[in-house]
Amino acid sequence: MANAFELIADQLADPEAQWSLGTFGAIAEFMRDAGEPAELVREDPTAAVVTPRGGIRLQALPGLKPVAFETIYPHLFLAHEVAHQWWGHAVGWKNYHEQWLSEGLAQYFAVLYAGTDRGQDVVRNLIGQMRQSAAQYSSQGPISLGYRLGHIQNEGRVFRAIEYNKSAVVLHMLRRLMGDQAFFAGIRRFYAANRFQKAGTDDFRAAMEAETPMTLARFFDRWITEAAIPRLNVTSRIEPSGKTAIVRIEQLGEPFDFPYTVSVQYTDGRTEDITIPVSEAVTDHTMSGIGRHCQ
Ligand SMILES: [Zn+2]
Repeated sequence: MANAFELIADQLADPEAQWSLGTFGAIAEFMRDAGEPAELVREDPTAAVVTPRGGIRLQALPGLKPVAFETIYPHLFLAHEVAHQWWGHAVGWKNYHEQWLSEGLAQYFAVLYAGTDRGQDVVRNLIGQMRQSAAQYSSQGPISLGYRLGHIQNEGRVFRAIEYNKSAVVLHMLRRLMGDQAFFAGIRRFYAANRFQKAGTDDFRAAMEAETPMTLARFFDRWITEAAIPRLNVTSRIEPSGKTAIVRIEQLGEPFDFPYTVSVQYTDGRTEDITIPVSEAVTDHTMSGIGRHCQ
């Protein structure tokens, strides 16, 4: 395998390689236009590329270890940064507890962009990946801890997993609870009311509640200011008639509000995803009169 310097220098020479520095390109991004003239420098341990518009210079420090990872959607970082024009720039955040409004909305809008560009399977995969990373680090603290997440351990992954990914998943859950129409109306209302100002979770909640009969105080308390995640016991049974299925969702700890997706497979092989809104300690959801056999 090439050493770290050669890897960096080869990639810098590749006109299609894109560079994202800092968390999701939070510090800087560098990319070249097709056919753009570029001057390359390759002097171990330093490699650089300079175009008429700018340049990037990287140094392979001793002990640098390249880590490979796959990206489900290659433009996610760029879409995230563009989304900051609305979330973070036009609508700011009041204090560090509220930074999720910037990072979470930018991250979720990047996911929405990916869905428009590549279809809903990409959305499902991205949300699944984000949920996994959020769950892995959920014990490290709530979203409202902001930049202090992982700060003591100097662990940027914690900040990314909670502030970016968990926030995006929370927004996705809220959308599925409220329904698309109310959710996006709430988003527009929040943007219009807070443009060129600094906003907080209470402002966001007020905008969303103006578009739904739901009360969302507990939703934001649990998901934004607390670190715990629900613990569930889920069982299902099919009535002897074979035409009714009952799914029971039991919350073992403090009750949360969230949408629970059940994938139903029928005997003819078709599958259907059903979203069950959960807010009680025990939720029995009956799927009846469907006229088809459930498995
Ligand atoms: Zn960001």
